[in-house]
Amino acid sequence: MRALPRCRRCDSDRVLDVSGKTGDLSSYMYQGREGEGYVPGVAGIGEGDYVNLRACLECGQLQGDWPQETPESLTLETADDAEEGY
Ligand SMILES: [Zn+2]
Repeated sequence: MRALPRCRRCDSDRVLDVSGKTGDLSSYMYQGREGEGYVPGVAGIGEGDYVNLRACLECGQLQGDWPQETPESLTLETADDAEEGY
């Protein structure tokens, strides 16, 4: 049997791994701006068609390597878009 994944912060084995296919229907918010489309590529969050989260149910820690660069795949609305009500 494979070893259970353990939380990198608290070492609990209560780590939940969830994968969800959104295709290009994901939406997100970053620094006050919104975007939608494919999942931005961030290890520990997901990429492309899939949201793939791994979180510790004991302490809440999202499992991944942090900090990370802002992904280039973020497509955020511009301030002009927001004024027009998109
Ligand atoms: Zn934890």
